Amino acid sequence: MNAEIIAVGTELLLGHTINTDAAYVARELSDIGVNLLFSSTVGDNPERLHAAVKQALSRSDLLVTTGGLGPTEDDLTKQTVAQAAGKKLVLHEEILKEIEAFFKNRPGACGENQKRQAWLPEGSTVLANVIGTAPGCAFETDAGKIVIMLPGPPSELIPMLHHEAVPYLMKREHASIVSKNVHVFGKGEGQVAEMIDDLVQGANPTAATYAKDGEMFVRVTARAETPEEAEQMCAPLVQEICSRIGDCVYGVDAESLEELVVKELSARGMTIATAESCTGGFLAKRLTDIPGASAVIGTGVVTYANAAKEKLIGVPHAVLETYGAVSSETARAMAEGVRRLAGSDLGVGITGIAGPDGGTAEKKVGLVYLALSDGKTVLVHKIPGANRNRTRDWIRYTAASRALDMVRRYLEGISLTEGSPEDGTGLFPVE
Ligand code: ATP
Repeated sequence: MNAEIIAVGTELLLGHTINTDAAYVARELSDIGVNLLFSSTVGDNPERLHAAVKQALSRSDLLVTTGGLGPTEDDLTKQTVAQAAGKKLVLHEEILKEIEAFFKNRPGACGENQKRQAWLPEGSTVLANVIGTAPGCAFETDAGKIVIMLPGPPSELIPMLHHEAVPYLMKREHASIVSKNVHVFGKGEGQVAEMIDDLVQGANPTAATYAKDGEMFVRVTARAETPEEAEQMCAPLVQEICSRIGDCVYGVDAESLEELVVKELSARGMTIATAESCTGGFLAKRLTDIPGASAVIGTGVVTYANAAKEKLIGVPHAVLETYGAVSSETARAMAEGVRRLAGSDLGVGITGIAGPDGGTAEKKVGLVYLALSDGKTVLVHKIPGANRNRTRDWIRYTAASRALDMVRRYLEGISLTEGSPEDGTGLFPVE
């Protein structure tokens, strides 16, 4: 099946909004084995959109449009596409009721423009919008071409594409798609891409690498007649990818590092406490984002100033004086100090330079020490100062991720990368 995307919106043409929808749709289509031949952008202009749709329907089997489904005057995708495809718009009573129900408690908000969203090309399958009010739709032209219309906001488009449009296409093709995501922490996208270079060439199953928030994942997708068959096709490839990447894989279809850590601590009946400086409580926040976290974390302190490090968690004055706040010694004292304070099984200490100021030649912006104490030994990791200009947010977020990964490795008994004493990393006895 050959496909084409038309993204509708003047803001996209002018560069005010980056066309992430097209990238998302393109990836999703390629995952299910659809060939994308053209992708274009058209402003909110009915004549030019009409011409673009006519051309697309003359050369592609599938047209996916994004944007212009909403209630505002410039949202003219539905009318224009329907007209170019030779379809009338018909009223869907069910959608109308849903729109009216959505605005029930907001008198006057459901005007004619809102109700216009309930008109769809005749013969359409409705694609539910779980976030907004504008439904998407899919229909077939008299010439047997498929048209799918999706809303512009990515928060609406992504779930609709994944849960509505792709299953619609699969059903028509009598096929099932299964995707497995291999989540990796500690190796970059480029590094992993090289490690699995020969595995990403296949057409079915496919494997593709994606970067996300200082982590990466590999998505394996198979297409078969049944979901079971597709699962079976994914399994050996997922296994091979996991074995090549090794212990940097933290889960297949795992939600997040924090979810995994909370689950693993709770399964072992263990507790953790955190003492954070440069991350300002980010680690405790991410842990407590997970429902059920109260069983594993009761204490998280932010000790930003030296005085707070001394007073609240007992970091010795001499350690701060001799080695500085951003040092292996301070991180170690923070981890053990908060563990003692909370009476928990584990304690984590994080201290670093989040920037943009405060770096020196020896201690660069981005330098972070992370320590994990279990009361007997303290493990210390170090993130060296970034050479590139990483943002403060990025440094803080990835430092918290690294701390979570450290705990994950400890709990899973993964032998830890050797440290070097002169670097202040490795395993130290608790003092
Ligand atoms: P709404 O109901 O919000 O009006 P819509 O389907 O009419 O939805 P548009 O009005 O075209 O969508 O766009 C709404 C917003 O969605 C845009 O202002 C922009 O922020 C975002 N958006 C639209 N198209 C894209 C795109 N291709 N990529 C990324 N974001 C987009």
